[in-house]
Amino acid sequence: MNSNTIKSGTLYVVATPIGNLDDISKRALQVLENVDLVAAEDTRHSRKLLSFFGLEKHLLSLHEHNERDKTGRLLEKLEAGQSIALISDAGTPLISDPGYPLVNECRIHGIDVIPVPGPSAVITALSVSGLPTDSFIFCGFPPRQAGKRRKFFESLKKNMATLVFYESSHRITDCLDDALAVFGHDRYACVARELTKLYETVKTASLIDLQDFISSDPNQHKGEFVLMIQGVSQAEKSDDSAIDVDELLAVLLEELPVKKAAVMAAKLTEHKKNELYQRALEIKEK
Ligand code: SAM
Repeated sequence: MNSNTIKSGTLYVVATPIGNLDDISKRALQVLENVDLVAAEDTRHSRKLLSFFGLEKHLLSLHEHNERDKTGRLLEKLEAGQSIALISDAGTPLISDPGYPLVNECRIHGIDVIPVPGPSAVITALSVSGLPTDSFIFCGFPPRQAGKRRKFFESLKKNMATLVFYESSHRITDCLDDALAVFGHDRYACVARELTKLYETVKTASLIDLQDFISSDPNQHKGEFVLMIQGVSQAEKSDDSAIDVDELLAVLLEELPVKKAAVMAAKLTEHKKNELYQRALEIKEK
């Protein structure tokens, strides 16, 4: 690829490494070398990255606090025929990173958006977790406050898909405490820390063992984390959604005689009519 193969008036969404700089793709380097402008989350950080690869580019900052304003300016440049690469500090832009308003506006205005795929912590972590990957939900960063975090976990508790969260070193232990309280001790989970870096650690275990592993070693609090929690099993889900027979009978008995209540309850559950009749009599006598 050379400057001629870069399309004018096009936004390239370029993934960069999440740690190990050797993970940059050949195509990413070619695009970064040949575009007119690079929009970056933190220009100082990205200047260092680009200069490591021998590239000197015109950089424009696009971060969460200015992206609404800057999007308009970038759109004008794209409409004027410039080619722009969007990068973030690490990994794939827009994945818990800036860029959504820009890509969205490009789509609305018919401007071409071309992906240049590469590393992302969510996929990297899942691929080595040992947890099911056929279905997963990327949940981003959990809320920072404990109360909100627990509610957030509660809202996800019944999902059968593997849940994936990003977390920082400041909150990983509190986050695990709350996960333990909501999902229970036995739910399988994985913490992937410092992926592709020197102190890369991937530990898969029950939440109680994971919490113990992380909290008992201060070194394990450091760095960047992906927390994955296995989805609820079909058996647990069925147990949970099973109708409480006693409650059902009690409600039916408010309106119906014992025999009819037992017949209705048998139709609504997998229990036998005779068994329910006996149980209904007991409830009635209480
Ligand atoms: N856009 C990035 C991506 O595609 O993964 C994510 C950016 S987000 C602001 C940063 C978070 O991603 C970190 O707090 C951490 O949860 C996760 N992360 C990034 N790099 C990581 C790594 N090398 N190991 C583990 N987690 C990482």
